[in-house]
Formats: sequence, structure tokens, C-alpha cells
Amino acid sequence: MIINDKSIIYNKDVLKDEWNITLNLGYDHALVGMSGGMDSSILFWMLAHHINENNLNTTLHAYTCIHEERPWQHIHAKKVIEYVQSEFPNVKFGVHKVSTTPAKDYVEAGTSLQWKTSCELAKEGGTVATYSGVTLNPSDELGKPIWKDAWDNRATNRDADTIADWDIDGEVIHHNNEDFHNRAGIEFVEADHYRLPQEEHEQHAIDNNKYHVQHYPFCILDKRVVLAFYKKYGQLVSLGGLTNSCEGSITRRGEPKFSQPCHWCWWCIEKEWATAYIFNYDANQSMRNWPGRS
Ligand SMILES: [Zn+2]
Repeated sequence: MIINDKSIIYNKDVLKDEWNITLNLGYDHALVGMSGGMDSSILFWMLAHHINENNLNTTLHAYTCIHEERPWQHIHAKKVIEYVQSEFPNVKFGVHKVSTTPAKDYVEAGTSLQWKTSCELAKEGGTVATYSGVTLNPSDELGKPIWKDAWDNRATNRDADTIADWDIDGEVIHHNNEDFHNRAGIEFVEADHYRLPQEEHEQHAIDNNKYHVQHYPFCILDKRVVLAFYKKYGQLVSLGGLTNSCEGSITRRGEPKFSQPCHWCWWCIEKEWATAYIFNYDANQSMRNWPGRS
């Protein structure tokens, strides 16, 4: 089942903006990469919400990789899953796979845990798709006046115009993030790897991402789409309060360790900028006393 969801943003009674996403829920198993952050948490909540609204038989699963230098992802992810379970008692919840990884292997270990969990679910039977709440960076034009000196600290692989090479059906294609994610959202859905025996499935998954059904419902939009849906569904305080977006180092996160956002890192600024835009206040004003923003 394809769900089209929309969040309309007003400033008082003036229509300001409209955010549209598509969620593909046509699977027996939906596996979500949960980082404990706002993006994956609202995605998990929205999948449960639409499964519930439409009486779907889809089971929701999660996986979380714990970065050794930021040992909090699983704590926030678990709180979010417990909350979503209590909100939607009629929805079926499955596994939450967690593994710890050295910082240097974080991305690779996360991908590996995703494949492994997806393969295990496929082996049990039924169709499987994975979901990621990744968003794009805002444009330079929007970002530089807000982030100021911190703008250069962004993960440039989330820039819309980052060029990558992907082997699709034997043809190497140069494309930017937006092209890739559009392609991933549409063509990858047709893959039928889940019908293959596990070993073959794993080999196909390793050899060619085409066999791995993945959905990135926020991926051609920036963080404001995430806050737009927190606003639409009234989840900023309840669900949002269980999440952590800060990626600052341990020395900037207060006592007890990691109990406070640093108000300095790229991600703290991103969250405040997006929240300010959607809830109609001025981000530069609200961040004026944050460190490093003279
Ligand atoms: Zn931070």
C-alpha cells in the first residue's frame, strides 16, 4: 500500500509551506534503521500510525548500531520503540537488533547489521523492506547564514549535488543524491530478492544493491520535513523528547555524560533551524547565546 502524507505549515492563519512524502507499506516486514535521533524516530512512528490506520498486517522491526564514542543511540531508540508500541497496541512489532561497533567501522557495521537482519526476516518468509530517515542538507543559500562557521562541518555526502557512481544493471551511472534516491525509491521496489534462498539473497545483496529493497521517504527533502511531521502529529514534546540529535563530543555534553545537547555541533544547529522554521520563530535569535556564535 502506498501512503501519501502531507504536512501543511501555517504561520498564524497564513499558509506558509507544504511538505509531501510517500511511504510504501506493501511489505510483510518493515525494518527501520533507528539512531535514536528525530528523523528515524518520526519515521518509525509514522509507519506504525499508517499500519494502524489502514489495518495492515505489516510487522515493524528495528536495528541500531552503537557507536563506541557516542554510546546512547540504543537508549533513545529503545525509548522510542516502547513509546510507539504503547501508542499503537494493534500494530505488530518484531525484533530490535542492536550491535556495538568501533567508531571507525560505524557506517560499515550499520550496513552489515541491516543486511543481516533483513536476511533473517526474509528467511522467516514474507516480503522485507528497509527504511531510512536520512534527509538532505539544505542548500548553501539557506544554510550558510544560519550555520555560519559551522557550515563547513556538514556531512557533504548529504548535499543534493554530491555526485556518486552507481552500478545499475551493469551500467555505471553518475548521478547526484536526488537522482539516486528517486531511483532507489521507485526502481528498487521491484526487486524480488526476498524470494531467493538466504545464501543467494545475501550474495545478491552484497553484489548489487538492486536486490535490497530500501526506502528513503525524506531523502530528497531537508530536516524541515521531519519537523513538519512532528508538528502535524503533535509529537514534538512526547516523541521528540525521547530522541537525541546532538553529535557533539563527550566533553561538551554535560554531566552526567551525554545528558545535554552541546549547542555547538552541526546537528544541534540543524535541529534548531528546522524547528524554528516550522514553528515560526527566528533561529539566529534563539541560538544567539550558543557557544561559537558571536
Ligand atoms: Zn550538539
